[in-house]
Amino acid sequence: MRRDFAGLAIASLLSATATLACAEAPAPPPPVGATDDTVRAIVGRLDLEAYKATIQGLTQFGDRRQGTDRNRAAVDWIEAQLRSYGCTNTERLEYVFDPPPAQPPQRGGGPPPSPEIASGEIRSGPGGSRYRGITRPTGVNTNPDAQTDARLRALNEQPASPGAREEVYCTKVGTTRPDEMYIVGAHMDGHGWGEAADDNGSGTALVMELARVLGSPDVQTERSIRFALWNNEETGLSGARAYVEQRAALQGKEDPPGSGRYPEPRWLGMIQHDMMLWDHGMPRSDGTLSPEQRPEADVNIEFQSTAKFADHAMKLAFFFRDANEKYATDYPAAVGHHMTNTDSTPFMDLVPAISLRENERGMHTGAGWNPHWHQPTDRYSTFSDKDFRLGLNAAQTTLAAIAQLTGVRLAVE
Ligand SMILES: [Zn+2]
Repeated sequence: MRRDFAGLAIASLLSATATLACAEAPAPPPPVGATDDTVRAIVGRLDLEAYKATIQGLTQFGDRRQGTDRNRAAVDWIEAQLRSYGCTNTERLEYVFDPPPAQPPQRGGGPPPSPEIASGEIRSGPGGSRYRGITRPTGVNTNPDAQTDARLRALNEQPASPGAREEVYCTKVGTTRPDEMYIVGAHMDGHGWGEAADDNGSGTALVMELARVLGSPDVQTERSIRFALWNNEETGLSGARAYVEQRAALQGKEDPPGSGRYPEPRWLGMIQHDMMLWDHGMPRSDGTLSPEQRPEADVNIEFQSTAKFADHAMKLAFFFRDANEKYATDYPAAVGHHMTNTDSTPFMDLVPAISLRENERGMHTGAGWNPHWHQPTDRYSTFSDKDFRLGLNAAQTTLAAIAQLTGVRLAVE
């Protein structure tokens, strides 16, 4: 109730302020539509076991840290998978990442700091959020010895080195509007000496599963859809930023002229997926967490209220929530306005941009609600089917929304 009331108040405030901010921005084109039966049939092609298998496939490359051989091998594997799903026009964005000198890994280390309990003062989190209740300390594990599995410790041993980077994407080309597209993204890199199963094998597998379903030869869409697996998210959204820098100006240009081909269709929206599995609630006062997915777990859809396209992004977020209510099988979705620390950020002043997560990035993830975040325990075996099912429901949500926004059709067999 409280969330709904606050949401309404913010919604009217936003539409008042964002209308001004968006005065020069063109309104997004309306959905081209798809029949309810078609959307239902397409969403029904998603499958829990297939989603789990794709996450597990990604974990063979350890934590997929950027700038390592295991990260490059994962990019190759993702590309081969996309092609096998029928998304055969894969491309790679090349960029250079030259970070400041890396910190040496820290062996050993003391006990983790203890949890904090709110004493009434306002504690700000990222993105405009506010921490409530009990918070746990967060951070990135850089200690190899914290990984108790010797095989995985060895797999993650190679450090990152600066230099050339690549990230892969493929595109389902629209039949009648190939010059317009939605970008459906997730970051494939991770860190922390685990398997990056939740962060972000879960989002990467979601995008790959959507590419699989929409890549089927009997599926057509009027608008284009690009499936992007960003690299270097964990170093500050570097891969998504490189994409925006290199490709924003190419939007909507037919190349060669008269060919009907659009290397960079005009961006209609960017939808990011990052950490889709774990929603076990607030930490307890001793810093421990419920071992079970909470029954009221939800998919958190966020936009950023300070973005130039906040008003359109808010509408897009609620369109996704509606898609969840109609087509997701188990878990609901909630909308928030503090999107932050995500690959949608570099897009949010150019196009409506949202993100889907297991929790709100600010007030939940930032407050330590996921004890496996950037830790050696972020492994496939850590998560249960109740966890994986939250990710599947996020996939159902995005697929149902995108199917409607791009005008999906199914060939009659
Ligand atoms: Zn992440």
